[in-house]
Amino acid sequence: MLQNFFQHRHFFGKDIYIVDDHHKALAPWALIRRDLDRAPNLITIDHHTDTHEAFLGHAHLKTMDSGGDAWELARSFVKRIDCRDDQSLAWAIEHLRHDEHIDAATISGVLNYAFCIQLSDSGGNPSTEQQAYDADRQARWPQPPTLLPPLRPMTYADPANHVFVISHDCAIGCTRMPHNDDCVVEHGNMIIESIYLNDQLARGAEMSRFVGLAHLEVQPYILDIDLDAFHSRRAIEPADPSTFYRLIRNAEAITVATEAECVDELKFDDEPIDAEMLLDRLMTHIESAVSAGRAAETQ
Ligand SMILES: [Zn+2]
Repeated sequence: MLQNFFQHRHFFGKDIYIVDDHHKALAPWALIRRDLDRAPNLITIDHHTDTHEAFLGHAHLKTMDSGGDAWELARSFVKRIDCRDDQSLAWAIEHLRHDEHIDAATISGVLNYAFCIQLSDSGGNPSTEQQAYDADRQARWPQPPTLLPPLRPMTYADPANHVFVISHDCAIGCTRMPHNDDCVVEHGNMIIESIYLNDQLARGAEMSRFVGLAHLEVQPYILDIDLDAFHSRRAIEPADPSTFYRLIRNAEAITVATEAECVDELKFDDEPIDAEMLLDRLMTHIESAVSAGRAAETQ
């Protein structure tokens, strides 16, 4: 029954699961989880953060009719998810709304920690220092804050939902002040360049070390890619794909959300791209990454 939610491809021992709507990825995540002795982490590359509270949309509808606490009801729905029970997963997928799937998976134990590389929230999970700075600035307004803006590396709490949204500044090397529309294009075009992913993984490691992970690749992980992270031809054709290829090679499995409508909405002006073309290109990258790894092993 779960097989109805995705298309499965297999290449050189690498499992690739393709879904049209991102929340259906919960099905392959659960299947991958079943084959491991512990819940894998998730490294996701997406335009959005996809970190809404699981089932809150559905719970709001329910409590509107019958009263009660929507948050509590939403949490009780998450508790029903059992990664070994197809029916509970199918129910979950049918009742999750946009952007609620990561929270559903981490809270229910299908995933351990999730790390989101994304383009829509520059701040990401705020550090302890950033929260103190923001509180000080707000308390003293309109006087200047007494604290200096914090510098990396910073301190991070273990998030209750096990989801780390990784921060970003702009395109690597951007010196424009203020950042402008050209920045958005430069930044988007860099999404899977090694120089950009290396910076994102370093930021992720600053966060993950507070939950006992020296870096994001030390424990089994699923690489999850939403095609709406790619806004141009340039974005899907990195000049240096080595870090992206390493993430592909070392992943337990790969999930891809095609999200064709989001791709159309988010692509840069006049870019002749669509989900079909991006998927095709991504599959070629996956084949190159995996077969290059194979060739290196047999030498
Ligand atoms: Zn910029």
